[in-house]
Amino acid sequence: MRIGFVGLGIMGKPMAKNLLKAGYELVVFDVVEAPLKEVVAAGAKAATSPSDVASQCEIIITMLPNSPHVKTAVLGKNGVIEGVKAGSIVVDMSSIAPLASREIAAELATKGVEMLDAPVSGGEPKAVEGTLAIMVGGKQEVFDKVKDILLKMGASAVLCGDIGAGNVTKLANQIIVALNIAAMSEALVLATKAGVDPEKVFDAIKGGLAGSTVLNAKAPMVLQGNYKPGFRIELHIKDLQNALDTAHEISAPIPLTSQVMEIMQAMKVDGKQTEDHGGLIQFYEKLAGVKVRKGGAQ
Ligand code: NAD
Repeated sequence: MRIGFVGLGIMGKPMAKNLLKAGYELVVFDVVEAPLKEVVAAGAKAATSPSDVASQCEIIITMLPNSPHVKTAVLGKNGVIEGVKAGSIVVDMSSIAPLASREIAAELATKGVEMLDAPVSGGEPKAVEGTLAIMVGGKQEVFDKVKDILLKMGASAVLCGDIGAGNVTKLANQIIVALNIAAMSEALVLATKAGVDPEKVFDAIKGGLAGSTVLNAKAPMVLQGNYKPGFRIELHIKDLQNALDTAHEISAPIPLTSQVMEIMQAMKVDGKQTEDHGGLIQFYEKLAGVKVRKGGAQ
């Protein structure tokens, strides 16, 4: 079966490579040439536009930054909708606003094309391993048709509800991750300023109730002052904006999310928006006048 893949960035590139490894024929496109060449070297066929991808495939996966990018690539000039055949399935794995997923799906439906929103969690390491957590919105029968393909990129794929439900679930995920990073930052800065080695704090608490996947992934990076993305602060700002917009539309106040959003905005003002979201600890380090490093304060 031929699968189309549009968007070969930090996440899309390793996900596409895992589909190639699983034996699928792949037709790929990105507006940037370097990742396109790399995936073609791994065995994919290059297309000249999302429309060109769609005309050659029955299943088209998109992995793009945010709602406007997905709208452009799917509904815009030379977009998927111009080349797609009735009966095809579009699987958007980007993290975008749930409302945008519903709008794009409605447009595709006018061409007889089904859509799933299927954002992921796990970051680049799990994209490389093929062990992402995939959260899906759409019809059960459409999900059943693509589940095996999703499980070549992820360790789990859960249908959470109708179209948009995947991205609602992703917003919930991103709230939990953002608040965990802020909590870790506050805690490790406090411990460091109090004269306790933050590495010992991490080792002592990681197996207890405060332990988390976020702590295990981010604390080792923070202790080395390594903020190479991973997941860029600017993408997390995008997710929290989508969470706040969605929350306000349905009158579900999320006060802690808005506080972490302001911290991320301050990071952006500091020119750190392209660093990993674990770099948020630098906001707290500045407030307390201390750097969190292996061995104690610096
Ligand atoms: P990225 O910026 O590295 O990659 C996006 C890719 O899309 C780029 O290669 C870009 O050139 C391409 N692109 C943009 N517009 C395009 C268009 N119109 N047509 C074709 N290609 C286009 O971003 P990423 O980190 O790979 O993230 C992709 C999505 O996955 C985002 O929604 C992000 O929030 C989500 N996500 C990222 C991570 C992570 O750790 N990086 C984890 C989970 C989810």
